[in-house]
Amino acid sequence: MPASWRGGLAITYHAGGTDAAKAHIVVKSDWSLKTLYDVVAVMKGSEHPDQWVLRGNHHDGWVFGASDPLSGHVAMMAEAKAIGQLVKSGWRPKRTLVYLSWDGEEPMLLGSTEWAETHAAELKKKALVYINTDGNARGFLRVEGSHSLESYVAKVATDVVDPQTGVSVDARRRAHAMTASGSAGANERAKEVGKIAADPSKDYPLDALGSGSDYSSFLQHLGIASLNVGYGGEGSGGGVYHSAYDTWEHHSKFVDPGFAYAGALAKTTGRLVLRMSEADLPVQRYGDFANTVATYLDEVKKLADKKREEQTAQARMFAANAFKLSDDPTLSSGLPTPLKAVPYFNFAPIENAVVRLKASAKAYDAALAAKGAALPAATKGKLVELAGRTEQALLMEPGLPGGRGWYKNMIYAPGRLTGYGAKTLPGVREAIEDERWTDVDTYAAMIGKALTAYADRLDEGVALINGPSASAKAPGAR
Ligand SMILES: [Zn+2]
Repeated sequence: MPASWRGGLAITYHAGGTDAAKAHIVVKSDWSLKTLYDVVAVMKGSEHPDQWVLRGNHHDGWVFGASDPLSGHVAMMAEAKAIGQLVKSGWRPKRTLVYLSWDGEEPMLLGSTEWAETHAAELKKKALVYINTDGNARGFLRVEGSHSLESYVAKVATDVVDPQTGVSVDARRRAHAMTASGSAGANERAKEVGKIAADPSKDYPLDALGSGSDYSSFLQHLGIASLNVGYGGEGSGGGVYHSAYDTWEHHSKFVDPGFAYAGALAKTTGRLVLRMSEADLPVQRYGDFANTVATYLDEVKKLADKKREEQTAQARMFAANAFKLSDDPTLSSGLPTPLKAVPYFNFAPIENAVVRLKASAKAYDAALAAKGAALPAATKGKLVELAGRTEQALLMEPGLPGGRGWYKNMIYAPGRLTGYGAKTLPGVREAIEDERWTDVDTYAAMIGKALTAYADRLDEGVALINGPSASAKAPGAR
């Protein structure tokens, strides 16, 4: 039983015992093959047909699937309808819009994974972003994704009106984060986000993406910048998840009455799609990514120190025979498993790469802000194309260890044991957690390489902005 579960209920727990009690369990599985149907709608861009904006939501559900996935899917359909109206009036998107209605998400993200793998080469050349939605509910805007897109998302959030309060959805999520950070159960992250939310000069932060919906292939396998967008946190949406009770009646009565937040979602993701498709210049701001990676580096260093202190303390207790002597001999649960001694790791490749990344990001953001608007159209187009490819620098062969080589992104991954939860700098963080010491140094070197390659692409962008005569290197670059 996991330690955090013990004592959670006010009853005496019994574990172990004899063979006296027997349970006969029958499992029936349907192993027949079924055909999946992804629906793909493409509207060709008028100026940059080879730059694609991808927008998806799954359409399969475990049973009726009213909240999961159709509450997000109807928002996507509403956007598509609105874009259709624009096109009827003579408007065309500058870039190609690809709307994706996935099948087979629930069994294991099958529809999106197969499509992403089949079109991998073309997607790596053409896709600028993948914007995902899934189940949606009444409440607060929640966005997770690639941190280079943080300011682009923040700007959209200030322009969408919250249906219940009339303020922007950004103002509402800030208010929520501020009050939540002061509540009794607030964790470190909630306190930090509350502080940022209270500072109007700062953008509301994005959380990292783990897994559990169709962005996984795009972000973690192909290195395409991705977002997952949804509303929630209010109403009684819980309890019906993935069950026969997730019905239209339940959703329309309890989860999102009047479908007000389906509308808010369509307005949010619709703006994200159109701003990406119509922007003359990259929407990315790389300082946000560099700063976020720096915080991840601090976290893994602290994690290693904490592990080392724990092991040292435990070794001291073993040496003093403390576990045995402090135990109630009539209720003994035995000795704890000895922790492995924790060596000092070489984080230098990440530390150096973060310094370089910060300098390159600063130079890029500053150059784009100062000179971007005056650049010739062809250079602007090239910069957007480069920004689309930049995230792919985060992919490294042979991917994550332990049979998880399909996950190639060195910054973002779902945890090996966390289900939907994200692990950042996964190669290093999980190696420390799992006591695989040699992997820590191996993956620190790989992360360093990935971040350096990322910084190289930013320098390429600075060179494009400054023209061929100017220096390609960012200040402080090595
Ligand atoms: Zn879903």
